Amino acid sequence: MKIASWLRRGGWHTVHINALDPFDTESLSKLGAPRRRPNGTGKIFRQPLPWPVEGFSLERNYSRYGIDRESFSWKISQTRPDLILITSVMTYWYGGVKEAVDLCRMHHPSVPVVVGGIYATLMPEHCRNTCGPDYVVAGEAERGLRVQLGHRLPFPPGPLTEESDPEDPVWRESGVIRLNRGCPMACEYCASRLLEPRFLPGDPDEAFLRLKGIHERWGTTHFAFYDDALLVNRDTLFKPFLERVLSWNKGLSFYLPNAVHARYLDGETLDMMADAGFQELRMGYESSSDDFHERHDRKINGDIFQAALDHIRASRFPLDRCAAYVLAGLPGQRHGEVEESVRTASSYGIRCRIAQFSPVPRSSLWEESCRFSSLPLEKEPLFHNNTFFSMEWEGFTRSDLEQIKRLSLSLSPN
Ligand code: SF4
Repeated sequence: MKIASWLRRGGWHTVHINALDPFDTESLSKLGAPRRRPNGTGKIFRQPLPWPVEGFSLERNYSRYGIDRESFSWKISQTRPDLILITSVMTYWYGGVKEAVDLCRMHHPSVPVVVGGIYATLMPEHCRNTCGPDYVVAGEAERGLRVQLGHRLPFPPGPLTEESDPEDPVWRESGVIRLNRGCPMACEYCASRLLEPRFLPGDPDEAFLRLKGIHERWGTTHFAFYDDALLVNRDTLFKPFLERVLSWNKGLSFYLPNAVHARYLDGETLDMMADAGFQELRMGYESSSDDFHERHDRKINGDIFQAALDHIRASRFPLDRCAAYVLAGLPGQRHGEVEESVRTASSYGIRCRIAQFSPVPRSSLWEESCRFSSLPLEKEPLFHNNTFFSMEWEGFTRSDLEQIKRLSLSLSPN
């Protein structure tokens, strides 16, 4: 959406096709309505497909998620583009990218097709060879697009910014917002550094104006933050943003699907978050083992976590709306360590969420993950999906994992 806004500022006409639209009329009549919640989250369309990898069986259904193929194809056929840009997210969703490229080629054989986004950045060669676009933009979009296409298309003179003024938002019940880009930490299991090599502080005024713009134009009241490091430099970034939200006082709700850094929580920030309408607080705890943190992330330890919990208890933020992510299934990790982490995190009276490790190409743990796993991770990104528990071994089996998930549920506050 930001790229579309950037192009429009440069004089382009843009058409956005949202292949995830849960309200697409043609798909509704064919597939029925997916279950949605009033806060803008919920299911999207899903159609079971044959599992495409020979020699491996799958216990669960393999499905295409998103609008019906015919509806998507029709929408593409109705456009007259000079350039087609396709984004991508998880590596194991590449099948959808390939289908999108194929359909764009079918309707517009002479128009350049560009794939960017997360999958394209993490696996550019796989994307090039398997999905077959004309161009793959790995990494930052503006630079990549200029290098690949600048010689043949009039690109906007100004920079690509966070500004996103959609002609029609993806959907209106919920909005996505980001204050800062990237993260200053370098956890071995994370893709953040690969997608944005530096921490780029945002502008609280601009972020607030974007939020205000979405609310005033579309009536959106639920907003999810997609920051990797929302609380870094909180006194100059997040708190000024919260101050503006609090004085505006529109009764909005905020969500944090990504964890925040427990080390940056303090009483004042927590009170402001509670007053501003934050519905939950998720913290990246990962493990109760100091060895784990020494080896993999150096971002937290028992003392930091204890201090964060003390701040929460002394604040207006409800303890039962707080959760800790515990990471499970790293190469060579033993189930006992994860179980201990779940017990320790839960003993603070907060919810514990199991974050199952997915191997990330090019991350520090990638090579080790490939050596450790019995699955062909390098060859077939579908196996990156944590449905497979690719790091299973005798020290941590699937049944151990299921038992730990049950334990975490049973220890969660009601
Ligand atoms: S702190 Fe979080 S976002 Fe930052 S590198 Fe670590 S896991 Fe990734």
